[in-house]
Order: sequence, then structure tokens, then C-alpha cells
Amino acid sequence: MNTSPLTTDATSDLQRTIREMQRVFTLQRAHRPIVRNTDAAARRRKLQVLKEWMLAHRPDIRDALYRDFRKPALEVDATEIYAIKKEIEFAQRHLARWMRPKTVPTPLTMLGARSRVTYEPRGVSLIMAPWNYPFYLVVSPLVSAIAAGCPAMVKPSELTPHTAALVHRMLSELFPENEVAVFEGDADVAGALLGLGFDHIFFTGSPAVGKIVMKAAAQHLTSVTLELGGKSPAIVDETADVADAAEKLVWGKFLNNGQTCVAPDYLLVQRTVYQPLVEALKNTIRRYYAPGGEVADSPDYGRIVNARHHQRLTQLLRTAVEAGAEVVAGGQSSDGDCYLAPTLLTNVNDGMAVMQQEIFGPILPIIPYATREEAIAYVNNGDKPLALYIFSQDSAKADYVLEHTSSGGAGVNECVAHLNNPHLPFGGINQSGLGSAHGYYGFRAFSHEKAVLKQRVGFTVLKFLYPPYTGSVQRMMDWTMKWF
Ligand code: NAD
Repeated sequence: MNTSPLTTDATSDLQRTIREMQRVFTLQRAHRPIVRNTDAAARRRKLQVLKEWMLAHRPDIRDALYRDFRKPALEVDATEIYAIKKEIEFAQRHLARWMRPKTVPTPLTMLGARSRVTYEPRGVSLIMAPWNYPFYLVVSPLVSAIAAGCPAMVKPSELTPHTAALVHRMLSELFPENEVAVFEGDADVAGALLGLGFDHIFFTGSPAVGKIVMKAAAQHLTSVTLELGGKSPAIVDETADVADAAEKLVWGKFLNNGQTCVAPDYLLVQRTVYQPLVEALKNTIRRYYAPGGEVADSPDYGRIVNARHHQRLTQLLRTAVEAGAEVVAGGQSSDGDCYLAPTLLTNVNDGMAVMQQEIFGPILPIIPYATREEAIAYVNNGDKPLALYIFSQDSAKADYVLEHTSSGGAGVNECVAHLNNPHLPFGGINQSGLGSAHGYYGFRAFSHEKAVLKQRVGFTVLKFLYPPYTGSVQRMMDWTMKWF
């Protein structure tokens, strides 16, 4: 077989990286017991240096994200830096309590014993991240791994190389490689990491790659947390405050240029408020992003991450329009800077690709419905979403929707914001994910809840059931069945 010099170089680079990751993996496994036995104070200190580095390098983080996809500085502050600062402070405040073994009741049949749940670090963990919040989605799970006492190998996304390089620099400066190490690279590097047999994998990304991760994890029976995506609907019912809903929806949808896992993917709008909502959405887009000119000139509106995704989105739009969809706002795009205007799309149907795949960009299809059963059936017909939003002034109606649909999380008269509450678990269900992140739930993701039962020496009620199974033992069993 002929191999071009380029292929040979790439192959030997990958081979070198694989050898390097095997070396670091062995080091982390050897160091695992030391990290495991650190106390809350030591873990809090590690989180503190992480926080201090991050706050001291705020301009560098903003710059990396601007270079990756022109993310506005305020959005970097709010969704990448502040979000991690809060995650760290929450963990620092509560860690000692999270780590403490929890005493649980012991049934009478175990008389004399005491029971507790202890939190054992899962061990050497792999954290794989996507590109859309490329700083936050690497560092936030790492905060949980550090809190739980796990060494970690981290793979940022290759699609945001400036942020990946910055994360690499930060973690190399702050931690020894036997505790935290970064491996940059694409799917080949990710594939090699997945072959290593980690104690836990925390993956954030698409459902398609989530399946690859779960399959690889199965080879080693590695536990997984899968933070995936999907089509998150927002339902606006006849009682909704249309102006309020429009303000929140436009923010949640076009933040990060629509590249948010919990962005409203499409709207289901009850017919009576359909036209007023469409008008309110159009006005709000103008007010937010084009107060005195064009959206394309707004410093507050980011860009699509790369040409491939830009082309994917413009094609979604073009094929929808060819099949009869109508662009009622936006639609303008330019290839050179991966710009796509905030776009509202009506007259869509299920046959269009835009209604079949997660949009993950600034296109918002709007679908009218007549009855709430119709809206609920529409949602339940698809995969279980990561988030579901309801805009309604009737709390009973909102609850009805919550009780008849399934989703990872939900927001009523709010969207995207539920992930800011560290007291809430964040995660999906089935196609949108497995397990939870954030706060205590993130700590739990990296911890094994070990059941410990301590009995006194020379004593156990169970001995009444020991063999040989004579008639009196059987009578004792029958009595136990009846009374305990
Ligand atoms: P992705 O699945 O393509 O990539 C995620 C990671 O997997 C990257 O590090 C990438 O290098 C790696 N990867 C890609 N192909 C691989 C392969 N064949 N084998 C092994 N690893 C591979 O996702 P993305 O495009 O970076 O991010 C977008 C997706 O992530 C969306 O579906 C979005 O909804 C989801 N997401 C979910 C959350 C959440 O918290 N639930 C947050 C952000 C994004």
C-alpha cells in the first residue's frame, strides 16, 4: 500500500499521542489512591486555584472564544466564566457535607447493625467535551471530578482550537499530569482515549457520538454520564404573556448563536396567540440585535462555529423553503464569516430535515396547534428532549403538560435558565442523556455510592435462618414474612 508523507506524519503523530496517553493513564491509575484519600480542604484548595486562574485570565478566555466563533464578551462572562465560578463556589461551600457518609436506617431483621452510604471516588475519569461552550463544558465536569476526588484526562473539542489550547495551558499550569491531563485532538484521539478502560466517562456531545462512547465503555464495563442533545420544544399556550415569552425565547434561542444544547429548538404555539407571538418575536430580534442597524454588525451576535456547520444550517433552511416553509424574519447569511441571521420559519412540516434533526443554530421553526393534546402528542412522538419549556399564565395548564411529557429538564415561563440553579440536577433522559451534572449531582456522577453495613462481632439475627433448613427455621421464615 502507498502511504503519502502526509498520512505517515498524521499516523505517527497519532501513535505518539496514543503512547503519551497510555503513559499518563498509567500515572493517573498509580496516583488514584492518593487523590481518593484527599480531604475536603485539599479539594477545595484545588478548586480555588482553578477559580483564581480563571478570573485572572478573563481577557484570555474572552479572546479565545472570540477567535473561535466571535462569542460576545458578555456571553463569555455569563455562560463560561461566571457559571464555573458559581459551580466552584457551590462545591466549596457544600463539599464537606457531600463527602460525609450518610447514615441510613437499618431494618429490625438486621438488629445490632448500623448502615451508611459512603462516597467513593469512581477513579480515573475521562471528560470529553463539545465545542459549543468549549470552556464551560470542559471545566464544569472537571470541578465535579476534583470535588469527588478523581484524577481526570480531558479532551476538549477540536472545533474550537483556541479555547482548547487555553484549557490545555491552564490545566498544565495548575495540576500535575498524574491528576489532570489534557489531550487535544479529533475523533481519532477521542477513539484512542475510549480504548483505555477508564473508571468513569463523562461525555458531553451529540446523541450519535454518545452511542459510540457507550459502546466503547461497554467493552470495559465503564460507568458513563452522557450529556447529550436533541430537539427541545417550547410550548406557548393561549394564556401566555406574549411579550414576556418573546423576550425570553429570543434570548434563549439566539444566545451563543443558537448553539446551545437546551436552546428552544422549535416552538409550538396555540393558534389564538400565534400571530401576536410571531410579531413579538420579530420586534424583539430587532430590539436585541439591530437597535440601530443590521444584525450582522451587532457585537452581541456571535457566529456559527465553522463552515461545515454553517453550510449544514443554510442547507436546512434552503431545503425547508424549497418544500414550502416561509422565512418570516432573517434568513440572510454570508459564508465568509459563518453568519446566519436570527431566522423565524413558519409553514414547516415533519418531512423537512429542519424538523427531523437538532437544529443547533439560529433557526426557529414555529408550528401552530389547536389543542394541548395536539401539542403534547407532537412532543411525545419524538425522542425525549433534553429540555421542554412552557409559556403559560395558567399554572394548572403548565403542570398538565409537565405531567404528560418526558424531558431531561423543564422550564415554565423561562428557558435555558434552569441550568443556572446548582441545586437542580442537569441531564437528559434516554436519547437526550444518561445521568446528571451540576452541584451535588455532578459530585455524585463521579462518586460510587458504596453501601456499608457494620454488624457487631458474634451477633446476627440472621443466624435463625442459617442451614440446615429444619422445620423450625421454616417457621421462623414464615413468621418473618408475616411480621417484618
Ligand atoms: P460531538 O458529539 O460531535 O463531539 C463531542 C466530542 O466527541 C468532541 O470532543 C469530539 O472530538 C468527540 N467525537 C466526535 N466524533 C467522535 C467519534 N466518532 N468517536 C469518539 N469521539 C468523537 O458534539 P458537538 O458537535 O461538539 O456538540 C454538539 C452536540 O452536543 C449537540 O447535540 C448538543 O445538543 C450536545 N450538547 C449537549 C450538552 C449537554 O449538556 N447535554 C451541552 C452541549 C452540547
